[in-house]
Amino acid sequence: MHPQDLGDTTVYAFDNLSQFDNLIHFVSTRQGGISDGNFSSLNIGFHVGDNNFRVLQNRRILADALGTDLLKYTFANQCHSANVAIVNDTGRGKGSLEKDTSLANTDGMVTNVKNICLGVQVADCVPILLYDPKQQVIASLHAGWKGTLRKIVPEAIAKMVQHYDCRAENIFAGLGPSNGPCCYEVGEDVFREAKTALGSVKEIVKPVANSGKYIFDQWEANIRQLKDAGVKEKHIELAGICSQCEHETFFSSRANQGITGRFMGGIMLKKLRH
Ligand SMILES: [Zn+2]
Repeated sequence: MHPQDLGDTTVYAFDNLSQFDNLIHFVSTRQGGISDGNFSSLNIGFHVGDNNFRVLQNRRILADALGTDLLKYTFANQCHSANVAIVNDTGRGKGSLEKDTSLANTDGMVTNVKNICLGVQVADCVPILLYDPKQQVIASLHAGWKGTLRKIVPEAIAKMVQHYDCRAENIFAGLGPSNGPCCYEVGEDVFREAKTALGSVKEIVKPVANSGKYIFDQWEANIRQLKDAGVKEKHIELAGICSQCEHETFFSSRANQGITGRFMGGIMLKKLRH
């Protein structure tokens, strides 16, 4: 993953997805927006207690910097589920200008429709972007520890296979900045839930000595689910950027005690001019 300077703001892009000319994708940062305090400055989340006008302006700043139209962005009302929605023409722009029209009870979106930017909002949870260049299908996923244990990754890949004839071996995946194994402490409750959901959690949930706490490696957990679903290892790119360590560049819920903004991952199929 590498930074791209867009003037007032900077976004990040995955190396593996950058090879495709017909794709726009990015992960936004905190830079270049108009929000202040814990939301400083490019907060794109309407649902976190920031001023709605500022959030809308921030979204416009980002969409403009990318040379895109905010009205083509689609957002979900994320709820840590494994619910993956198929987005068609009628879903274009839902949730782009206000929270109320966001897709309800949805944490993943899949489409093969051009000019729809599927957005995922995060601050420590893992933003995952998927692309099948053969079938021209994209997906954006919100995978925190709950979504990971509920297996949103295999759910999304199954949708891509069933609805669009994708093959997992053709799918490219990018896992964006999120709380990494350096920082992501969880309690006994998460450890137990992980064991129930995943079976073996060795290498995924590791005890921290003498603390009763555990480190939950949500990167490794999601990479495993991608590989188990048939995605090739060489098609998977992990940003390897911890949002809590890098909280000056990316919003981190943990670093700001739960009151913070959201950055976003976005992916869109372009209409190519011939
Ligand atoms: Zn960290």
